[in-house]
Amino acid sequence: MPGAIPTTAFPDGRTVPVIGQGTWHMGENKKTAADEAKSLRHGLDLGMTLVDTAEMYADGGAERVVAEAIRGRRDDAFLVSKVLPSNASREGTVRACEASLKRLGVDHIDLYLLHWRGRYALRETLDAFETLKKAGKIGAWGVSNFDPDDMEELRSVPNGATVATNQVLYNLNRRGIEYDLLKDSQKSGIPVMAYSPLDEGRLLRHPELVHIAKAHQATVAQVALAFLIRNPGVIVIPKTGMPERVRENRAAVEVHLTEDDLATLDRIFPPPASKMPLEMI
Ligand code: NAP
Repeated sequence: MPGAIPTTAFPDGRTVPVIGQGTWHMGENKKTAADEAKSLRHGLDLGMTLVDTAEMYADGGAERVVAEAIRGRRDDAFLVSKVLPSNASREGTVRACEASLKRLGVDHIDLYLLHWRGRYALRETLDAFETLKKAGKIGAWGVSNFDPDDMEELRSVPNGATVATNQVLYNLNRRGIEYDLLKDSQKSGIPVMAYSPLDEGRLLRHPELVHIAKAHQATVAQVALAFLIRNPGVIVIPKTGMPERVRENRAAVEVHLTEDDLATLDRIFPPPASKMPLEMI
């Protein structure tokens, strides 16, 4: 088994391993749901305790898969779920969270995110997050798909400064956040959760990445993940429904990219030279 997964801390002091597990598309097919839960359980066994889900995924189906995965071992997992913007009113957020708790079969979600900005005022959603926190139904709250201007606006809202994370699209093909958002987050001590760290699988077919991977006796997925987690305060949440791939992703901690590798990666996947609009899926 590879060495321990490095951890990063949220502003409230709780720490999580920097390689977690995603769940988008899980629960869409009843036939594969049991294998998906098994795969997540395998990740928990390997210390990939942060599990990212959302009410949106498979209309609650992904949360049900997570429920199956954590049955009898709630304390092994750090659960992240998300409220849809269309539900993010003061009352709607509380209702959505309670529905997620029920599907997950737990009494609290460790970190609850606004999936992306919608029509409701941030103040309303944050009031609901505070209500949920006081009731012990969530441990902390955060946001997703917020660009630097959104983050600044968030801080001006009452309690906005207590945001725990911003979950954004970040991988070798989508490096825009390196220009500003990543540095801002590191300065404020707010971990960035990198979603689609393998660019939904697209990176895995890249011929030049194969070359770097071979030199490290590693796989392309491991190189792609190692590139992201070398940044302080970045958590990756790759999704896979296959236990052998969970093991492979977990072992990315063993890949230490050299200065030469990083220069090659900069040539193939140029870092942003100017401010770019935040990309999202
Ligand atoms: P991803 O993790 O970049 O890629 C997932 C794809 O890669 C799947 O097709 C998976 O297939 C494959 N894969 C994973 N590990 C592999 C490996 N070692 N070798 C070969 N193939 C591998 O994409 P993602 O699911 O979009 O992103 C990850 C998580 O981020 C999501 O599941 C979700 O929890 C979160 N997310 C959040 C947002 C947001 O708006 N906040 C948006 C998108 C995603 P198999 O399952 O068949 O292995």
